Amino acid sequence: MFDKILIANRGEIALRVLRAARELGIHTVAVHSTADADAMHVRLADESVCIGPPAAKDSYLNIPAIVAACEITGAEAVHPGYGFLSENAKFADILKEHNIKFIGPSAENIRTMGDKIEAKRTAKALGIPVVPGSEGGVADVASARKVAKDIGYPVIIKATAGGGGRGMKVARNEGELELAVSTAQSEAKAAFGNGEVYIEKYLEKPRHIEIQVLGDGQGRAVHLGERDCSLQRRHQKVWEEAMSPALNAQQRDEIGGRVARAMQEMKYEGVGTVEFLYENGEFYFIEMNTRLQVEHPVTEAITGLDLVQEQIRVATGAPLPYKQSDIQFAGHAIECRINAENPESFTPSPGRVDAVHFPGGLGVRVDSALYSGYRIPPYYDSLIGKLIVFGKSRTECMMRLRRALSEFVVEGVETTIPLFQRLLAEHDIIDGHYDIHWLEKFLSRPKA
Ligand code: ADP
Repeated sequence: MFDKILIANRGEIALRVLRAARELGIHTVAVHSTADADAMHVRLADESVCIGPPAAKDSYLNIPAIVAACEITGAEAVHPGYGFLSENAKFADILKEHNIKFIGPSAENIRTMGDKIEAKRTAKALGIPVVPGSEGGVADVASARKVAKDIGYPVIIKATAGGGGRGMKVARNEGELELAVSTAQSEAKAAFGNGEVYIEKYLEKPRHIEIQVLGDGQGRAVHLGERDCSLQRRHQKVWEEAMSPALNAQQRDEIGGRVARAMQEMKYEGVGTVEFLYENGEFYFIEMNTRLQVEHPVTEAITGLDLVQEQIRVATGAPLPYKQSDIQFAGHAIECRINAENPESFTPSPGRVDAVHFPGGLGVRVDSALYSGYRIPPYYDSLIGKLIVFGKSRTECMMRLRRALSEFVVEGVETTIPLFQRLLAEHDIIDGHYDIHWLEKFLSRPKA
């Protein structure tokens, strides 16, 4: 086992990793920007190193500063969390050159799956069903027009380097195509420095269902079931649940088994998520995330596994101790992403948290780095906490969620807690009848 690891992240996920490491008897090093000197992850870590000014590009994305922090503290491995450098193949390469273990998959796997076109090609070759679309990037409107005609409208134009729901444009007919392609290209160029785009059939009423995987890099891999992340705003997840209200055990075994076999073939190491759209009983691969995800706790709740500890164990070279039949699913879990935002307009609401009280009790987990008196800096993501609720059944889980939300207090900044309270009054949510467009429609409806 490692003696010391460095956590190259901040906020709730830095805390999450720190907790897993400490339970394994591993010392932790926090890194932080000057804006985060008072952050909880810095307070709780065994050691901390300031790696730069507030802007992420100068601190949490500053590779030389992070490598130097490892060398100063003697950290043997780096956990990247999610976001920031977690899917940066160059970072994984550089750590390797310095004999520091990157806790995650190989740089090669990150590179392949990080390029969305390459990822689709790989998935298809490994027997995973994909969304119909262009074979590669589309260079101009003429070739876009040809692909769109073949697959049929509506189509969605997506950035090869995409992420975070950016750089996507829908065209419902040929007349809309030209503008959609050029807007997607320029958005992609601005956001990712790479303007390449590709085309997919736009699915009208899909659910977003993703399969969690865990592999040891030596050819052993299992799937840990699915998460339903269909409740989204601007293509970003808001609420996630496991299991999906839409799947049965047979469908789960079928798609999960396919994904696990693909990961065995790739010799995938660590945790990863293979994302699908699901419509009319069919799965369509959209992308793979080669890292821990924000919504991993719902999978932990129904499997009883600590995914971060599993990541760390396989990173030491230990073989995966599980066969697929060892993985059992029990109960139901829901996660709500609590953001410091106005719950109607979603404008960020940074500032001082005057008081905070977290819900507790059986089946309630709060992953958050907030404390009373903490000042939420304006420089980073507005996620300030995750409420994860577990119950024997989906019904029990929803009742518990309602109860937990009513206990949750954050004073001084606005949060999205009222949005979840509104959602729990909706029949479609109670019944589990929603697709990826449900939330946007709900938000655009005049409030009763
Ligand atoms: P990102 O990497 O930016 O998160 P994804 O490819 O994972 O992009 O897509 C994010 C979301 O965008 C999906 O969960 C879904 O809501 C929507 N989306 C993506 N592709 C399609 C498609 N072909 N048809 C309909 N919606 C899509």
